[in-house]
Amino acid sequence: MPAPTTTAVPAPATASAGPSTMAPLNADLLQVTLNESAAAPDFDNLVFGQKFSPHMLIVDWNNKTGWGVPHIKPYGPLSLSPAAPALHYASGLFEGMKAYRSADGSGKIRLFRADKNMERMNRSAARAGLPTFDGDEFIKLIKALVRLDRDYVPHGEGQTLYLRPTLIGTPDTLGMGVPTEAQLFCICSPVGNYYSSGSGSKPVSLLARTDVVRAWPGGTGCYKLAANYAGATQPAMEALKEGYHQVLWLFGPDRQLTEVGAMNLFVVFRDQSADGETTNYEIATAALDDGTILPGVTRDTILSLLRAYQQGQVAIDGLPKPERITVAERKVTMDEIMDKAEKNQIAEVFGSGTAAVVCSVDKIGYEGVDISIPIQADGMGVFMRTMLREVTGRQWGAIASPEWSTVC
Ligand SMILES: *Cc1c(COP(=O)(O)O)cnc(C)c1O
Repeated sequence: MPAPTTTAVPAPATASAGPSTMAPLNADLLQVTLNESAAAPDFDNLVFGQKFSPHMLIVDWNNKTGWGVPHIKPYGPLSLSPAAPALHYASGLFEGMKAYRSADGSGKIRLFRADKNMERMNRSAARAGLPTFDGDEFIKLIKALVRLDRDYVPHGEGQTLYLRPTLIGTPDTLGMGVPTEAQLFCICSPVGNYYSSGSGSKPVSLLARTDVVRAWPGGTGCYKLAANYAGATQPAMEALKEGYHQVLWLFGPDRQLTEVGAMNLFVVFRDQSADGETTNYEIATAALDDGTILPGVTRDTILSLLRAYQQGQVAIDGLPKPERITVAERKVTMDEIMDKAEKNQIAEVFGSGTAAVVCSVDKIGYEGVDISIPIQADGMGVFMRTMLREVTGRQWGAIASPEWSTVC
């Protein structure tokens, strides 16, 4: 019998694998493939999220080598396994940010509090078992993308380039475990002014629903996980059918007001002294303590500005005197809304979020009754109008805000 031939046995693949070989996200490795057939910017009839800039950013990750080479490449379809958990188990999450073109003609384009979006994105990733990353490196990459597509940042008042960072689980498996592969990407969409210029704010009506819930304690409502949003579609359609713009999401037997659509909610109460001489205001929004509320960057910005105003750290024209204002993160229930509406103690109600900044509410439908919310001639109230000016001023750079605003 011939002697058996021997072949070299390769060393086990695991020998060189280990935590030390997991590469961190590194913006210095960026590679760019230009889109040679980019269409010219077109800012006519900007409907939210329907036009895209010519480039996108994409970075692959796997659990053996970590983060790969970041690529900026022409905007286009992903290549994805049909088994990818992103498609079956909502293994994905997103952020909503904007790039703002300075109104002073300097051509500067800014991001606003991008570090907050990165912190939130990493919290969402951790909850979904998806990989986390260095947020500062991702901001550098997003800035490179915005600089490349700077001509697609609209010039019109209130118009922006909306940025959609996204992270999805992509392995070629239907297994429900921790995803072994993932893709981090960012696409950009020129978007219009939520407030059609000159005509002021368009108030929305809300249907307060007791039969559906958006989020629950211990759930994922406080993360921007894809899983939270599909289930809100039918309740929203039904509200529209009943003649309301958005759903007011209630929670619990005491019917706490949580959020409106995909915005945080602020209620301003007023309380006049017996002699009618002075009015005190309380501006309240749900606390973040039970995991049902999405911690909005706009929500935090409004609370921070109001608290700084109360403490005399910032001057804000148009608001009641600081000593007349209470800023509260607390539970507000429908019983309180009905009681105070009847006593004419609701001054205004508005939503907050990156897309609209602030959005006033003029009506809440609840158990077959419409509760009217006061609205001034421009469709706003004092707090909302003032916050709109103060927040957008810092986003566009008209009000200096070095700690919140960075140039791309
Ligand atoms: C994104 C979002 C908000 C608003 O967050 P911002 O950071 O202010 O844009 C509020 N509620 C929900 C459910 C959201 O998804």
